[in-house]
Amino acid sequence: MIRDFEYFAPKTLKEALTLWDKYGDESKIIAGGQSLLILMRQGLVAPEYLIDIKGVSELNYIESDSKKGLRIGALTTHRTIEKSPVIQDGFIVLAEMERRLASIQTRNWGTIGGNICHADPAGDPAPVLIALNATLTTASLKGERNMAVEDFCLDYFETALEHGELLTEIQIPAAPPHTSTAYTKFNVIESDMATVGVAVSITLGSSDGICQDIRIALGAVAPTPMRAKQAEAALRGKKITDNLLKEAGEIASTEVEPISDMLASEEYRRELVRVLVRRVGKEALARAKQA
Ligand SMILES: Cc1cc2nc3c(=O)[nH]c(=O)nc-3n(C[C@H](O)[C@H](O)[C@H](O)COP(=O)(O)OP(=O)(O)OC[C@H]3O[C@@H](n4cnc5c(N)ncnc54)[C@H](O)[C@@H]3O)c2cc1C
Repeated sequence: MIRDFEYFAPKTLKEALTLWDKYGDESKIIAGGQSLLILMRQGLVAPEYLIDIKGVSELNYIESDSKKGLRIGALTTHRTIEKSPVIQDGFIVLAEMERRLASIQTRNWGTIGGNICHADPAGDPAPVLIALNATLTTASLKGERNMAVEDFCLDYFETALEHGELLTEIQIPAAPPHTSTAYTKFNVIESDMATVGVAVSITLGSSDGICQDIRIALGAVAPTPMRAKQAEAALRGKKITDNLLKEAGEIASTEVEPISDMLASEEYRRELVRVLVRRVGKEALARAKQA
């Protein structure tokens, strides 16, 4: 049962930050409520004050600029991202990821900011955003901070947010030429959390097809989403072949720290990493050749 709480529904960021700063430890921010309400129903979280930021419309937008890249307000819903023509045109991997995240009902209410702040290591957006080299902006009454997505997630369900801070925006830089990104997750139940999620972004040299840069980001295999940096190093500066991708998958499977739970054993998760890094790498490579 949910314990009684006092409810605030600020309409501006300033108002939300003021309330959040004032009620701090006794309060919780709610956006779409798709993760928080489960915790409240289970009695794991019982705030005295609930600050509902869903009505702060200034944090709900998708803006794109060919030089600066993409900016997504933290309160943009998963469904809006999935359906956005701007994202379908220039950042298709985000739309593909969103299409497989939860059900349409959850995507209609859940926000990308809420997903990132919930910091579930099995969440879909974070590995894709890390592969896309995304950064985040947070705001408090003291001002703004910027950080890479991989620095935002500190531990299971723990983020770098400080007292009075809200996540306000996600930025994805414009990709260099011949760059493409692919993502997949293995999940047992359709539209549910990843057992393992893998995102790979590859930049190829314009004439020689050599891998100039690569980012391999993994979900559900460690306390936070992580990069497989040794596997990346095995591919960077080389002409990527299927054998090299196979080797990278094997290296990545040794870099992760998976747990065993009801979805999969530690060994099975390592095997998924081995197979999916190769498979998603192959897809990202094929896309980069067309980009
Ligand atoms: C049935 C079901 C299936 C799901 N399947 C998936 C799935 O396949 N993949 C996946 O990734 N997720 C999945 N989820 C999780 C869910 O979609 C996301 O976690 C959800 O989108 C969170 O967004 P929200 O706006 O609802 O956040 P809320 O539940 O409102 O908040 C989540 C947390 O973030 C904090 N918060 C929210 N917004 C901000 C902000 N701007 N600044 C600071 N703190 C903030 C809240 O205080 C809370 O701690 C599933 C959820 C359900 C119920």
